[in-house]
Amino acid sequence: MNFKLNWRGTSYGVKLPEAKLTAVSPIERAPLPEKVIITLHQNIGAPCKPLVKRGDKVLTGQKIGDSEKFVSAPVHATISGEISGTTMLVHPATGQLVEALIISSDGTDEWVVPEAKDAIDTLSVEEILKRIREAGIVGLGGAAFPTQVKLSPPKDKRIDTVILNGCECEPYITSDHRVMLEYGREVLSGLNIIRKVLSPDNMYIAIEDNKQDAIEHVRKLLASMKLDRNCKIVTLKSKYPMGAEKTLIQNILAREVPIGGLPMDVGVVVHNVSTARAIHDAVSERKPFIERVVTVTGAVKEPKNLLVRLGTPLRDLIENCGGIDGEANEIILGGPMMGISQFDLGFPVIKGTNCILLKKSMQSKEGDCISCGRCLDACPMSLMPTMLVKYAKAGRYDACKEAYIADCFECGACAYACPANIPIVQYIKIAKSELIKRAAKK
Ligand code: SF4
Ligand code: SF4
Repeated sequence: MNFKLNWRGTSYGVKLPEAKLTAVSPIERAPLPEKVIITLHQNIGAPCKPLVKRGDKVLTGQKIGDSEKFVSAPVHATISGEISGTTMLVHPATGQLVEALIISSDGTDEWVVPEAKDAIDTLSVEEILKRIREAGIVGLGGAAFPTQVKLSPPKDKRIDTVILNGCECEPYITSDHRVMLEYGREVLSGLNIIRKVLSPDNMYIAIEDNKQDAIEHVRKLLASMKLDRNCKIVTLKSKYPMGAEKTLIQNILAREVPIGGLPMDVGVVVHNVSTARAIHDAVSERKPFIERVVTVTGAVKEPKNLLVRLGTPLRDLIENCGGIDGEANEIILGGPMMGISQFDLGFPVIKGTNCILLKKSMQSKEGDCISCGRCLDACPMSLMPTMLVKYAKAGRYDACKEAYIADCFECGACAYACPANIPIVQYIKIAKSELIKRAAKK
């Protein structure tokens, strides 16, 4: 049996209620926190080792954790003050315990002396990559993959296309939208730096058609910065999960990333718009990555887009937005589709946190599959989610593997479309973790 459907162009996905409450809310700078909690593992790859100890004084922007591994990203002090302790936190994505350093503010926000700035044209590719690495930049769309690694493809992988991702297809989240509007020049400067590193033939900026103001703004900036000959804006239908890397590549270039492969296997690198802005700050401004825009939304009294120092506790930001409104009993880091529930208000903003969503959780009773096929229509990877559930329930994990479970990136479009309320992604996650355990035993 063929477990994969033929690629169906853009006919997959689901139309979700957008609820982008903060689309017209300008970015506000959050007050300097009294303390920050800096976890030593904020990226896919190796965790950092602390470079400071309890009692040490630190300055804003000072590197306080690093790793010698290639796939890693250092962490920095995001306020000035004293290392007042350490703690262990459960990482929201991996569920593993990670060490974190606590910095108590001295209230001065005194920065490390910045390195000298110089013209981008004078920099070598090696120097640019070094600056990106030292700034601790990771993919800010949520994946948190170290950016300098993504910009260092193996020699046999020629990158002919760069896609800058401004889709932001999850409901509620507007941080990238506001970054394009308010830091558009920095975003395009970051893209220009990426161009210098990878020398692609083509560059695209992908934006969904529900962000017409951003499309117009970026179009004007491209022209005024004389980048419009090298880069095209691609307007995509507002549909979930339009912003996923593999679906973007399919839609824009009609190329299919192989199972278990990466965009670079088909000559493409995708970066998020906020990552491009961070690249500009690191390379042109010599600023480490210590703050990001976070949408705080849902059941809060005043939803906002806040410019937040990394390590700020969620509680501070919710209070800044007037506190919890109504009967919210769930906090999600990220959007409602792919975000991860968090139960500790003391948990800090980490590099990958683009949204804090408060909502009332709804429990629906799981029914039986009625073979309606809606999950197949929704799946952007042309998988057969109903079969994956059937095999997972029966413990037939090898059959899940044959049905390309590795290609599922857990977007949840299938579960959203399912009229029987089958928690398809949960079954898929269980099957994937069983397959990982089996592989580890071999
Ligand atoms: S969660 Fe996986 S199976 Fe379901 S729609 Fe997304 S990619 Fe397809
Ligand atoms: S959408 Fe739900 S009910 Fe319909 S085929 Fe898929 S799993 Fe079955």
